[in-house]
Amino acid sequence: MPLFLPTDFFASVSRITPEYLKQRGIRALILDVDNTLTEHGSQDLPEEVELWLCQMKAAGISLIVASNNFKKRVAPFAARIGLPFASFSLKPLPRGLAKARRALGLPKEQIALVGDQIFTDALGANLYGITMLLVVPRAEDTKWNIRFKRKLEVPFIRHYYKKGGKLHE
Ligand SMILES: [Mg+2]
Repeated sequence: MPLFLPTDFFASVSRITPEYLKQRGIRALILDVDNTLTEHGSQDLPEEVELWLCQMKAAGISLIVASNNFKKRVAPFAARIGLPFASFSLKPLPRGLAKARRALGLPKEQIALVGDQIFTDALGANLYGITMLLVVPRAEDTKWNIRFKRKLEVPFIRHYYKKGGKLHE
């Protein structure tokens, strides 16, 4: 069970503050794209997310994008927000996260993964041994395989709350 649980849970990326990260010694974030920074497959950059990215950069937090999606989807979005990226990163396998960590040049204790899915993002971060900050998906999923995974996520989210976990709103 612990492998599937987030360290903390946020209503949106914009609820993750520099103070929160500083308190925990986090100096870098590995960012998922689909349903974390924008809607699935979208190139739109919500204003709230744009401001948050600026706030993170201003606070000296290093940022890198790691998505399981294809390069042609991830590259334009990463370019738009001015961040390096790893596409097709095969979360929950550690390879993509290890690559992102090498690019950041920081120890695991100083890195958190921010993402919206239990079976890719949470499991990946926990297997790799970094902090996992889960966010509520930005939009309802339309792809059948992700909708199915959402149903399977429910018991883990429930367990997170049962153990005293909170949602930062
Ligand atoms: Mg995602």
